Amino acid sequence: MQILDGKRVSTKLKDEAQKEVTQLKSAGITPGLAVILVGDDPASHIYVNMKQKTCEDVGIYSIVHKMPDDISEEKIIETIQMMNKNPNIDGILVQLPLPPHIDEERVIGSIDPNKDVDGFHPCNVGRLSLGMDCFAPCTPLGVMRLLKEYDIELKGLDACVVGASNIVGKPMMNLILNEFATVDICHIHTKDLSSHTKRADIIFVGVGKINLITEDMVKDGAIIIDIGINKNSEGKTVGDVDFENVSKKCSYITPVPGGVGPMTIAMLINNTIKAAKKRGK
Ligand code: NAD
Repeated sequence: MQILDGKRVSTKLKDEAQKEVTQLKSAGITPGLAVILVGDDPASHIYVNMKQKTCEDVGIYSIVHKMPDDISEEKIIETIQMMNKNPNIDGILVQLPLPPHIDEERVIGSIDPNKDVDGFHPCNVGRLSLGMDCFAPCTPLGVMRLLKEYDIELKGLDACVVGASNIVGKPMMNLILNEFATVDICHIHTKDLSSHTKRADIIFVGVGKINLITEDMVKDGAIIIDIGINKNSEGKTVGDVDFENVSKKCSYITPVPGGVGPMTIAMLINNTIKAAKKRGK
């Protein structure tokens, strides 16, 4: 069994990104990222701080628009429209979730698709499903980059994606289908989850349930990608896979933490650089 080490790969990618940013700066372009952060959700604040710190490390200019919980939808959209027009901003990210009185779809839909570095705008979602160049969501994109780093080819593999959200499961499905995997996608209403996972050469799980994937649900030598992030009863961060037992049976596995998580921010940086390169074109 081999560990897919997202921490190591993401560090390497950040070093590469830093070099690219230096080159862009010498050509007169400083990549810029604007983050919209609404409310006081502690997890959202932690994620935004991590994103901002990584931007700083690689030399990307970043600004965070912090807004109170009771802000109006119009005010958020106005700020996004300002960022759409701002020539120093290449990427715009709205930290989710938004408070319940805000229409998430309308807010995301107001981002210029060319600055949509999270890949959540319907235009980028459509382009991804058509296999066109686009901004793909950072978490599944990070998974793809990790697989590439370990020379894992998806063509012809039987894949099972567990979890079908718009930000994890569905884009994961599209990305691997574009690489010619044969894909089963499962969700809360799937009748017999293990009948799907047992057949798979590679399992991607992003649900948010501790020990959802157990040893008996996995075939020998399968590749396991654990996207889930949970806190167990001892306060430790764990994924959706029973790592201790499944790791004895599989060929590759991502640990949690240190697997998919660090790749997500690395892809946000890559998407922002990609947007900056398109500036003026
Ligand atoms: P979500 O709640 O939006 O979606 C969960 C999905 O899992 C749904 O499609 C649901 O139908 C499915 N599901 C729920 N229970 C199930 C079950 N028993 N069997 C099969 N499917 C089931 O969640 P999300 O935003 O997609 O996040 C999923 C997980 O991924 C969470 O743990 C989250 O913390 C993690 N996540 C990690 C990263 C990262 O950077 N590693 C990024 C985003 C999300």
